[in-house]
Amino acid sequence: MRAVVLDVDGLPELVEQPDPSGPGELVRVLACGLCGSDVEKLGRAPVGTVLGHEVEGVIESEARVTVMHRVPCGACERCRAGHESTCDAFGELQLRPGGFAERLRATQCLPLPDSVGELDGVWVEPLACVLRAAEQIPAGGRVLVVGCGAIGRLWIQVLALRGHEVVAADLSDERLAGARALGAAADPAPVSAAVVTAHGGLGEALQRLEPGGTLLVFAAPDAPVPVSLDAIYRKELAVVGSRSAAPIYFHAAVELLPSLVLPPVVTLPLERFAEGVELYRSGKALKVAFTP
Ligand SMILES: [Zn+2]
Ligand SMILES: [Zn+2]
Repeated sequence: MRAVVLDVDGLPELVEQPDPSGPGELVRVLACGLCGSDVEKLGRAPVGTVLGHEVEGVIESEARVTVMHRVPCGACERCRAGHESTCDAFGELQLRPGGFAERLRATQCLPLPDSVGELDGVWVEPLACVLRAAEQIPAGGRVLVVGCGAIGRLWIQVLALRGHEVVAADLSDERLAGARALGAAADPAPVSAAVVTAHGGLGEALQRLEPGGTLLVFAAPDAPVPVSLDAIYRKELAVVGSRSAAPIYFHAAVELLPSLVLPPVVTLPLERFAEGVELYRSGKALKVAFTP
């Protein structure tokens, strides 16, 4: 089968390789979304890696599924404290070789109901991450979403459904217009919480947070970020991080997905992987998915 495999320099190349063997169900991949965390790993992950974890596929019974690529043990101290993504078991991948391939083996498949549109299954994992992180935001109040890319658009809708007044910030007018179309305001008023999905706006978020507010870090910085500890100290802010999802949020995401306005997806074949990465990096595409 064809798969996009990282070479010795960590760069992607399309190669032929044997079908995956081992435990789990054989999944024929219909589409796999490109995640910011995949792009982060290019040039860094070990040779032979196949990236991709936002999967929609079909299993032998012809049922459409998505897969949970990592699962926590659910019983350790960190899991019970709600830090499932730091659980030791979470490090183990539940799919082989990865989503950017024609087929994969997955031990944790989740059926997709008909209400989830064709290829919309690639949104389950990103939405599950948002739903899990949203629990870190105290109830009520105005919440600023910094960065209105695809993830920012999911955030805007999830926060509104949770009863927050949502404000958006983005350096791009076009992205901001997309956020407004989803009901987010764009005024510079103070906020009780801020979700950082892009690190360009960290300073603004810290400045706009009201005393006692919450700063939620939801994206890995692509470079060292100077943070004003003075603002955190003087305004007694809470800084929390959230990364990845856990099983209950996958289930919740499958249920919620059909009622959301999903960002546009540029769909490309695996042969055009490099082009898709470039579209994502340049910001020309909000979301890219590959169809084998
Ligand atoms: Zn992802
Ligand atoms: Zn655990």
